Amino acid sequence: VQRLVFLGPPGAGKGTQAAALAQVLGIKHLSTGEILRSHVAAGTPLGREAEGFMTAGQLVPDRLVLAMLEAELRAPAASAGFLLDGFPRTLAQAEALDGLAPLDRVIFFDIGEGTLLERLTQRRHCPQCGLVYNLVTKPPATPGRCDQDGTPLVQRSDDREDAVRTRLRVYQEQTAPLLEFYTRQGRLRRLDANGPVEVVATRLRAALG
Ligand code: ADP
Ligand code: AMP
Repeated sequence: VQRLVFLGPPGAGKGTQAAALAQVLGIKHLSTGEILRSHVAAGTPLGREAEGFMTAGQLVPDRLVLAMLEAELRAPAASAGFLLDGFPRTLAQAEALDGLAPLDRVIFFDIGEGTLLERLTQRRHCPQCGLVYNLVTKPPATPGRCDQDGTPLVQRSDDREDAVRTRLRVYQEQTAPLLEFYTRQGRLRRLDANGPVEVVATRLRAALG
């Protein structure tokens, strides 16, 4: 059983690496952002409460995210291990997680700040299958369409420049302090997240080995 956390700013490549690694390791990829977006799309009570915070680039309140995550961790799908992507994002979340599940490793995606705005504003995804593209670094074969199912690609409402700037600030203020929290626990490994996807993937395997 492996219990991993990917920590790092929005746009660092956590989701891209997590999707591939979780498949290889046979563990559950839990992206709290993706789970929240599916609640918004389905119009659940949680989705209706969360939507305004998300569109503005703010964090969804801890009590909502924690209740959601606890349910996900209890589900049978997570019993063989999990990879948390985008959680925890506050000290309160990290402390709560400590009481829920012992972690094996926390990987910090370390990347130059300048790359993030560009990566996020060029990000597009398939609303049907969830595949993530980038207009510059990972364009679809047919412009504007998903390679897998041909669905028109869309931009996340929080990937527009003003929301991105808010998210980067929120990361610095609320999430960056977790680096010290996990360093003190001796669980943190730094990953150089600059460079092409395959290069980062190779470094990631080394960091986990
Ligand atoms: P996060 O989950 O950390 O927010 P994503 O994995 O969604 O980040 O990546 C953000 C954007 O950058 C996406 O458009 C993705 O295709 C692209 N991307 C991810 N990793 C790399 C990389 N190593 N080099 C260039 N572009 C990347
Ligand atoms: P992400 O897909 O990780 O970029 O997350 C998208 C948005 O979902 C964030 O900007 C927050 O509004 C919300 N979100 C995701 N994970 C969390 C979390 N752990 N705590 C609070 N809000 C979150």
